[in-house]
Amino acid sequence: MTEKSSETKPADKPKTDEKKFLVRKIESSKAMNDAMGAYFSELFEAAKTGHPKIAWCTSVGPAELLVACGFLVYFPENHGAMLGASRMSTDLIPVANAIGYSPEICSYLTSDIGSFIKGETPMSKMPGYVFPKPDVLVFNTNQCRDVQDWMYYYHLHYGVPLLGINTPVRIKEVTRTHVEVAAKQMEEMVEPLCKIGGQRFDYDKLRDIVTLSKQLTIKWKAVLEAAAAIPSPINFFDGTIHMGPAVVMRGSKRGIEYYDTLLKELNDCILKKIGSIPEEKFRLYWEGMPIWGRLRTHSELLASLKACVVASTYCNSWIFDEFNPDDPFRSMARAYTELFIVRSDEYKEQYFQQMIEKYKIDGIIYHDAKTCPNNSNNRYGLPQRLEKKTGVPYIVIAGDLNDLRCYSEEQAKTNIEAFVEQLSER
Ligand code: SF4
Repeated sequence: MTEKSSETKPADKPKTDEKKFLVRKIESSKAMNDAMGAYFSELFEAAKTGHPKIAWCTSVGPAELLVACGFLVYFPENHGAMLGASRMSTDLIPVANAIGYSPEICSYLTSDIGSFIKGETPMSKMPGYVFPKPDVLVFNTNQCRDVQDWMYYYHLHYGVPLLGINTPVRIKEVTRTHVEVAAKQMEEMVEPLCKIGGQRFDYDKLRDIVTLSKQLTIKWKAVLEAAAAIPSPINFFDGTIHMGPAVVMRGSKRGIEYYDTLLKELNDCILKKIGSIPEEKFRLYWEGMPIWGRLRTHSELLASLKACVVASTYCNSWIFDEFNPDDPFRSMARAYTELFIVRSDEYKEQYFQQMIEKYKIDGIIYHDAKTCPNNSNNRYGLPQRLEKKTGVPYIVIAGDLNDLRCYSEEQAKTNIEAFVEQLSER
């Protein structure tokens, strides 16, 4: 079911122009592909030679600590997104279902485990591919419990150590106690990580890595804030692809250099008033996970309706303002506990209000992702409360991040078109 905030007349006709709307192609894409290619090459080389060791980490796990302890870091969720975007998930999810992983749980998890069992991955098309087996598995439950169970599967398979941080969730204010609890768990990881990695812990190295991550996050934030310009030079669908370095290159210089290139391009567009779409009439917010197998469809559909998705919770989730090299453990703990996904609905409403203001949002699309309740914020009355406070209308699209069986193309298209029609009447 797809719902919308107020009735749209049945006679309303979608205002999709017949001519082909082209979304501006990000020129820095090649530089990003090169940076991502270099990241994977390093991983494959390490998998071949056994050096350096490889840590698997959940996307908002303590990556800086792992890099400081000498590991290369591989992110199974990044692989999950690749499986969704390549639409391989559809065949892989049932494979994981068949061994007891429910179709109701995270479809990144089921796609990834299905891919592992079948031995099919988009990485195999990359030069020098060797599967990057883990030497250690590290999770943080700040985002959900699924990541713990996901890593547990590989722990059972490979017999390598499984380390984790358990973070309190649904917090309104992050207190010192919350931070101390997470920081202590990170500190306790140092000894086992050093043992597995065969290295001595170097506190100064950790400070340097946190410094690099801070620089990376500041650049990524600037990329997202470029979308506050009218017209916006970048849209959410581009953002989901160009956030790759912000996720996997924490603690390295490569991602920082890439975002310098991208920022130069975006600032140039802002100066010349070149938008991501040819004619930006409506500015939208995307709340929730992307539907990876439909990024281009959604991008082109919205461009044809003169609607640009200029901001999202998803892309903003990789801004870690709190990193501080002078206090690495506590600042990492705070950064990874202050995440949007960890917070209460009361906090989230305030956050959305700020985003609406900052990005001049006309309407919100909530994606109700079937297998990710953690990133679906439409289920406890939040959209209705927010619309009442701000007057900004919304629509809810039912779908999923990877499992396209939960998504109806026709229904989503009809409802998005009716929603934009409703915006134009306002
Ligand atoms: S937050 Fe959602 S998409 Fe991410 S790992 Fe957890 S269940 Fe999967």
